Amino acid sequence: AAKTEERNAFRFYTPMMHADTRQRMQLATELRQALARNEFQLVFQPSVELRTGRIVAVEALLRWQHPERGEVFPAEFIPVAEGLGLIRRIDEWVMQATCAQIQAWDLAGVPPIRVAVNISARWFGHPAFVEEVSRTLQSRQLPAQRLLLEITESAMLQLGDDTERTMRTLHTLGIAVAIDDFGTGYSSMAYLKLPAVAYLKIDRSFITGLPGDTNDAAITAAMLAMSRSLGLIPIAEGIETEAQHDFLVRAGCIEGQGYLYSYPLRPEEVQHLLCPSQPQAAPRLKLVPPNR
Ligand code: C2E
Ligand code: MG
Ligand code: MG
Ligand code: MG
Repeated sequence: AAKTEERNAFRFYTPMMHADTRQRMQLATELRQALARNEFQLVFQPSVELRTGRIVAVEALLRWQHPERGEVFPAEFIPVAEGLGLIRRIDEWVMQATCAQIQAWDLAGVPPIRVAVNISARWFGHPAFVEEVSRTLQSRQLPAQRLLLEITESAMLQLGDDTERTMRTLHTLGIAVAIDDFGTGYSSMAYLKLPAVAYLKIDRSFITGLPGDTNDAAITAAMLAMSRSLGLIPIAEGIETEAQHDFLVRAGCIEGQGYLYSYPLRPEEVQHLLCPSQPQAAPRLKLVPPNR
C-alpha cells in the first residue's frame, strides 16, 4: 500500500522550491481551478475523551481530489497555496464547507459535538477574519460554541499586534481557539494566556516516542502540567498505540486524537459513528458515541 501511495502522491512540494515560473503558474492555475471546480473535500478526524473513549469533537481536514493525481494531502499543497497567496480563499472555503456540514449533521439528528477548523496565519491575521467567521456561523444558525479554531504555534509567530484584539473579540463571541502543533514553534508562550485560547494540542512528534523515550515523556508531562495550571484543555495528537494512550491517561491528558481511535472519516462515516442506532457498519476500535 505504501508503494502505491508513493507512486500516486502528488510530489511537487519539494521540487516546487526550485520549480520554474511555468510550473508555478500551472500549479497556481490548478489550485484556482480546484476551488472553482469543487475539487476540495473535507474529512473529519474524531477527538476522544481519553478516559472514556467518548467522541467529543471532530477536526476538519482538507483533501484535494486532483483529476489526474488522485487524493492530494495538505502537506503537498498548503505550503504552495500559502506561497501563491491562495490560502485565505481556501481557508474561507473550508470554513463555509465545515459550517454547512455541521448544519447538515444537525438536521440529520447527529449529536452536536465541537468541530475544529485549521486556520492559516494569513487569514487569522486579516482584519476581516472575525467578521467573516461570525457571518458564516450566522448564515447556518450555528452557535459559536460549536466551532474551534486551530492555529499552529508557528503561525502565532507570524501574527502581529492585532492578535490580542482578535483573540479578545473571538472570546467575546464565544469562539474558542486551540494552539496546534504545540512544542514545535520555538515561541515565547506568552500567547497561551490570551483570551479565547482554551486548548493546547501537543504535537505528534512528542507522542511518537511515548512511553519509552524519557525526553518525550518528560516534555509531555511538562506540557500537561502547564496546561493544567493555565486552565487549558490538553489534546494529544497522533496517538497510535495502546502504550501511548495508557501513558497519556496516567499523565492526566484529557483529550486525544490519532489512528488508534480513528482515521479521518468522510461525513457520512462520522454520522454513522455518532448515530449508532442507524443500521450501519460497526465503528472502529475503542470509540464510544457521545451522550445526548
Ligand atoms: P494538523 O492540524 O496538526 O492535523 C493533524 C494531521 O495529522 C492530519 O494530517 C491527520 O490526518 C494526521 N494524523 C492524525 N492522527 C495521526 C496519527 O495517529 N498518526 C499520524 N502519522 N498522523 C496522524 P493531514 O490531514 O495530512 O493534515 C496535515 C496538516 O495540514 C494539518 O496538521 C494542518 O496543519 C494542515 N491542514 C489540514 N487541513 C487544513 C485546512 O483546511 N486549512 C489549513 N490552513 N491547514 C490545514
Ligand atoms: Mg489541526
Ligand atoms: Mg497538529
Ligand atoms: Mg500538524
